[in-house]
Amino acid sequence: MRMLLIGPPGAGKGTQAVRVADRYGIPAISTGDIFRANVTQGTPLGLQAKDYMDRGAYVPDDLTNALVLDRLAQSDAGAGFLLDGFPRTLAQVYTLDECLEASDGGLDVVVQLVAEQDEVVQRLLKRARDQGRSDDTEDVIRRRLEVYQEQTHPLVAVYAERGVLVSVDAIGEVGHVTERIFSALGGRVQRADAE
Ligand code: AMP
Repeated sequence: MRMLLIGPPGAGKGTQAVRVADRYGIPAISTGDIFRANVTQGTPLGLQAKDYMDRGAYVPDDLTNALVLDRLAQSDAGAGFLLDGFPRTLAQVYTLDECLEASDGGLDVVVQLVAEQDEVVQRLLKRARDQGRSDDTEDVIRRRLEVYQEQTHPLVAVYAERGVLVSVDAIGEVGHVTERIFSALGGRVQRADAE
């Protein structure tokens, strides 16, 4: 199972990714988490990434692509994976395509978490109060949402055209959203079996 969770910042991708990956026994690979770990450890990659992250900008594709290709080459990703937060640009889509073609196929399913802008802003402001993430200030939140709309939202249409997209309402309790994802994925698997 090769999966991607896509949606605006604050839609709950990180939380849901862990739950879904657990259910399918595959690793959840979050580029945001990998960047944050590098920032905390003060690695050269972390030093480069921090500047972009703190501004709500995307880390350049070359840095991001190298990081993901390296992660996907690790043995635990061989039987499948759930990507959280990658790809976020068209160039990243093409890099992932090339990588997956080399290993026999593309993503099996892309789950879009759908949430209104006002809702995600409120959630991110709450997370700012609870966790104090350096990119959760109001200005940076607005910037991150703009960047998502400009650069990442168009990928939803790309995956819809490929016939791998399922959309899930991300508003509501965490457990309810997880159940919606499971039933959307279950439906897909059954349909694939029936074909
Ligand atoms: P996230 O935790 O997914 O919200 O990511 C936090 C930040 O990490 C983003 O705002 C970007 O600065 C950076 N980042 C994470 N994933 C990517 C990506 N695929 N491409 C570029 N930058 C990324």
